[in-house]
Amino acid sequence: MRVPVTDLIGHPGAAKPFTVTLEREDVGDPGASWGPADDALQGPIELDLDLESVVEGILVRGDVSFAVELPCARCLEPQTSEHTVAVAELFPDPRKREDEDEDDPGYEIVDDLTAIDLSTLIRDAVLMDLPVRVLCREDCLGLCPVCGTDRNAEDCGHRPTDEPDPRWAALADLDLPDS
Ligand SMILES: [Zn+2]
Ligand SMILES: [Zn+2]
Repeated sequence: MRVPVTDLIGHPGAAKPFTVTLEREDVGDPGASWGPADDALQGPIELDLDLESVVEGILVRGDVSFAVELPCARCLEPQTSEHTVAVAELFPDPRKREDEDEDDPGYEIVDDLTAIDLSTLIRDAVLMDLPVRVLCREDCLGLCPVCGTDRNAEDCGHRPTDEPDPRWAALADLDLPDS
């Protein structure tokens, strides 16, 4: 996801908006893994950014918005949630860099100082805000540890004192999406 910045670089104070709706395939290598977001990420990713030229390089600020679908940690019903992550990242101009500055891979000005690649920024934003555990509702009753029935939908009659089937007991404790 390269954005030309020839009009900004070397012109501190210059700025331009960058607003676009992307499919996942538009962000970097089509085959690249999104890690834990690989299955969860749904639909397009929206960028509402400002690119600003500063003495040190190009400052990228704004919002990255996306939707994810994850199973409820108790009853496994898929849950969709919308996320907006505020980002603020500097893409340093290597000519302005102090020798001891560390490289931050993915946040460089590329193509002979004519463009920035937003792929890493977008991926980092998605992964940063990916929920570790979702519930369909706070008081979700989850799956019965004895028979596996969704107890939100139906009372199977089992009580916590009944002998659990070990397969469903394991499911009830499942902390998704760590699988
Ligand atoms: Zn649930
Ligand atoms: Zn049951």
